[in-house]
Amino acid sequence: MSVTASPVDLENVHGAHNYHPLPVMVSHGEGAWVWDDEGTRYLDFLAAYSALNFGHRHPELVRAAHEQLDRLTLTSRAFHHDLLGPFCAELAALTGKGMVLPMNSGAEAVETALKVARRWGYEVKGVLDEQATVVVMGGNFHGRTISIISFSGDPVARTHYGPYTPGFRAVEYGDAVALEAAIDETTVAVLVEPVQGEAGVVLPPDGYLADVRRICTQRRVLMVADEVQSGLGRTGATFACDLEGVVPDVYVLGKALGGGILPLSAVAADDDVLGVLDPGSHGSTFGGNPLAVAVGRAVIRLLETGDPQRRARELEAPLREGLAPLVGHGAVGLRVRGLWAGLDLDPALGTGRDLCEELLGRGVLVKDTHGSTIRISPPLTIDRADLEWGLAQVRDAVASLAAAAGS
Ligand code: PLP
Repeated sequence: MSVTASPVDLENVHGAHNYHPLPVMVSHGEGAWVWDDEGTRYLDFLAAYSALNFGHRHPELVRAAHEQLDRLTLTSRAFHHDLLGPFCAELAALTGKGMVLPMNSGAEAVETALKVARRWGYEVKGVLDEQATVVVMGGNFHGRTISIISFSGDPVARTHYGPYTPGFRAVEYGDAVALEAAIDETTVAVLVEPVQGEAGVVLPPDGYLADVRRICTQRRVLMVADEVQSGLGRTGATFACDLEGVVPDVYVLGKALGGGILPLSAVAADDDVLGVLDPGSHGSTFGGNPLAVAVGRAVIRLLETGDPQRRARELEAPLREGLAPLVGHGAVGLRVRGLWAGLDLDPALGTGRDLCEELLGRGVLVKDTHGSTIRISPPLTIDRADLEWGLAQVRDAVASLAAAAGS
């Protein structure tokens, strides 16, 4: 195919079909808004699954990236560079942990946490070699590597990727009794999303995270909180665990840590846990590179002001109030935490994809997850008036699907 063909045609022919994007081609972004190549603007109600918590091209983040681009971009970890230490110290302070290991993607950080937990199990807890187990939650989403999809319950993510990595036990999310029963002398960690984002912003019952913490402490098992999507302001706190006053042993961070500019993830834990790694036992060429951590440091500075967290708290009520009228009138479920909502469309009206396409026509970008659920996660920097306009579009779009379905 000629390279003068449209970008979408080129993507369809030469790009692997592992996504099914909505029919919009974004070419420019600023704050909570993006524009297509014809100049039509859309409100970004997805924010790259929370990677854009600070909006598109946040000036302080872009400035940090520009300054670093002009100085040094990559050393690999074969040499020291002048930003890695400060970044680790600042992220350690933000998490309240002693040590940090930067990686790139969220899945890589989850893999890192799993490797660290296994090693901790063998070398500190005294689990018999090759016996370590990790308890995971039903409905989880932690990324796409072979080990991670090995304990996914989603057939779409798993099919024909076996043989699968052993050593994982799944229990129902929110069931502390089942969790306790699944732990035995081989268990090294419990891996939990404080809010299950990909599952549709599924909230655990009140007190559940505190129960997980208590059980992990009593049974000498590491509590690993995957805050890749829930962390860094989205729920109205720096970490979703904070809302229950819970401090996990290990934080897994990603997405917004890279400021919506580049991939940056990290694992944070104390020295008695992360200290099990020694040179050569784990790593990544780009992990902690100067460009990424320059942006990461600017992200941490934004979070230290408390402003993104406060915005998410302030906008929680308007978000809930804007969507609540739909429950029983086109929607069959609604969950809200901070500036983050999962809305279950009545399947009789259509699929989540139908709703996304209807919203696209009204200038709002959003993405479905699992059948008829859509997840709404605008940048935390969104103006209240823009949020309310977008929510009005959601109500209109649902009404229009209802009218078309004759209900
Ligand atoms: N963990 C959670 C909770 C996520 O939501 C995601 C991605 O959606 C990941 C891990 C994987 O992150 P990445 O896509 O950067 O590998």
